[in-house]
Parts: sequence; C-alpha cells; structure tokens
Amino acid sequence: MVDVKMKKNLLNELKNFGIEFLENQDMSFYSSIKAGGRADLIMFPKNEAELVSIVNLTKTCLCGCRCYVIGGGTNTFFKEERIFAPVISFKKFDASILKISDISKKIEAGSETVLRAGAGVSTSKILNYAIKHNFGGCEFFYGIPGTVGGAVRMNAGSKESVIENIVEAIDIITYDGIKSKIAKKDLKFSYRSIEIDGIEGNYFITAAYLKLYKTSESKVTENIQIFKKRKSGQPLGEFSLGCIFKNPDGISAGKLIEEIGFKGFSAGGARVSEKHANFIINEGGAKPSDIMFLIKNIEEKALISRGIKLNTEIKII
Ligand SMILES: Cc1cc2nc3c(=O)[nH]c(=O)nc-3n(C[C@H](O)[C@H](O)[C@H](O)COP(=O)(O)OP(=O)(O)OC[C@H]3O[C@@H](n4cnc5c(N)ncnc54)[C@H](O)[C@@H]3O)c2cc1C
Repeated sequence: MVDVKMKKNLLNELKNFGIEFLENQDMSFYSSIKAGGRADLIMFPKNEAELVSIVNLTKTCLCGCRCYVIGGGTNTFFKEERIFAPVISFKKFDASILKISDISKKIEAGSETVLRAGAGVSTSKILNYAIKHNFGGCEFFYGIPGTVGGAVRMNAGSKESVIENIVEAIDIITYDGIKSKIAKKDLKFSYRSIEIDGIEGNYFITAAYLKLYKTSESKVTENIQIFKKRKSGQPLGEFSLGCIFKNPDGISAGKLIEEIGFKGFSAGGARVSEKHANFIINEGGAKPSDIMFLIKNIEEKALISRGIKLNTEIKII
C-alpha cells in the first residue's frame, strides 16, 4: 500500500466502523512456521458485516487493491520482506458451532447431523465438539491445525478422508461484497484445492456446513487412533507448515525428497525434517530466505535428477 493518503483514509474508515486492525506487523506471529516478513496492514473482521465493510472500504479507499486472506496461517508463508497489500485475518472471525439439523428428530446411532461452523473456528474445536457429542465423520481433523475456512479452501485431510466428504454447503462473501450460500453440488473439490461453479476470482468463506453422524464415544476414539498413528510420523511439536509439496503422481513427496538426499539438510535456522522429509521446520531464527533456499533447491534437484516437477501445497506470499 504505497499511497499514504489512501492508506490514511482507509485507517480512518476502519476506526469509524470499529474494525480492528494493526499496522507494521511481523507476519511470523501469523504463520505456524514462525518466520515471515512484515505486513503494512492486517485487519481482523469479527463477523460478516465487518467483512463486507472491509471489502467495500478497500474498494473505495484503495481502488480495489487485492488483499491476502489468512485463517490460522498453518499453510501460509510470507516470504516477502515487506507485504504491501492488506492482509485480512480470520483469527477473530466467528468461531461458533451450531447444530443446524438432525435428519431424524431422535438422535440415534447412524443418524446424521449438520453443524454450521463459523470460518474462524479451529478444526480442533470442531473435533472436540464431535468427541463430546459422539459425532463421527471428522476424526481426520486430528493433527490438522488451522481454521475450518482454511480447511475448506485447502480441501484439508489425508488419504483416509478429506473435508470434501463432510461439507454440505458453505457461506461465502465475494470480492463484490455479495453473500451467498453454495451447495455441495457447486463445489468442485480437488487435491488441496476447491473451485466454485459460477464464481470467478476470490471470495471469503464465512461458514461451512458439515455433515456428521451419531456414533458412540468408543467408536470416535477408535477412529482417531488411525490418525494419531499416521501423525506420529510427522514432526508435530515443531514450527512448520505441514507438507510443503503436493505428492506428485506415483510417489510421495516425502519419499522423493528423502531419496534425492535432502532429509536433515539445513539452511540457516531451517531444516528438512528428519522425521518427515516433506516438512521444513524452523529450528529457531529461520529467515524466510532460508526456507525459500530449501524449497528452491529441493525443486531443482527433483527436476534435474528425477525429472519430477514438484508443486508446493503451501501458499507462498
Ligand atoms: C503440523 C501441521 C500438520 C498439518 N497436517 C495436515 C494434514 O494432515 N492435511 C492437510 O490437508 N493439511 C495439513 N496441514 C496444513 C494446514 O493445517 C491445512 O491446510 C489447514 O487446513 C489450513 O488452515 P488455515 O486456517 O491455517 O489456513 P491458512 O494457512 O491461513 O490459509 C490457507 C489458504 O486458505 C485461504 N483461506 C484461509 N481462510 C480462508 C477463508 N475464510 N476464506 C477464503 N480463503 C481462506 C488462504 O487465503 C490460503 O490460500 C498441516 C499443517 C501443520 C502446521
């Protein structure tokens, strides 16, 4: 955001609307790898009304300058030293969970329930809710950090299940400030991605409707064990972004990275995890350039030595 006058106008309007914002923020606080440049402006809408105001204000005050959106920042890396475009964070956004419907009135084993989860709610909170109320279907959230908005955008999950399998509909706000509810049939999920029929360009996810089924506490706990076991092979206690690369056809990215010799390889404070080579961890003081150095070198070596083009799963800004 270069124009000082335009920025001043926007900040005044944000104050008038009572919308929280911060200037000159260190984005390492907003990304789970704890490294990143500084953002000129980050805004924290709490609900749809504030989000629509932000959309309208950026349109009028900044001539529609593009914004970056983040949920929990567990898959987003701010590589640039300075981020000029405004960032919209869902950190303080609606984190409610509401039970919308029971397909049958009497909730018995096997009957289905739809939850409406505000985009700011964490997947771990939804999993805890499901455990408490004996609902099955979202056990795969175990060990996947971040918000439900981010999870829908990334079609988060694993080979056992992805969020696509339980999403019934989503609420969105477009960059024109228009609210819509999009039914499952119009959501085109793919590997760590989603497209919406009839919507071009960016949009904000404000809620997700998730279909779960009634089961027993012991069954939910038993199902979670599968994911606990899978997650024991990942460096969960470390600062990371989860898997850096998407799996290319025919081989897991982790195995490929290991085979081309990068397991344990480090640059500055960043290291390719010894536990899972598709994770880069910040051992302390990693600079964005250290992380980018590892990403670029892995990409180059995979292409040169194996002819495989790796694509990042993480969003790099
Ligand atoms: C230790 C660890 C383990 C992980 N394991 C897994 C795993 O097993 N499976 C898996 O799939 N992922 C995994 N991840 C990655 C990450 O947790 C998921 O992708 C998660 O769903 C991202 O959610 P987030 O809110 O943090 O998204 P962010 O990183 O904040 O954003 C991701 C993308 O979603 C967009 N976005 C976020 N919120 C919204 C919104 N409300 N509206 C529109 N767009 C939005 C952002 O613009 C960005 O493009 C892991 C990450 C870590 C750190």
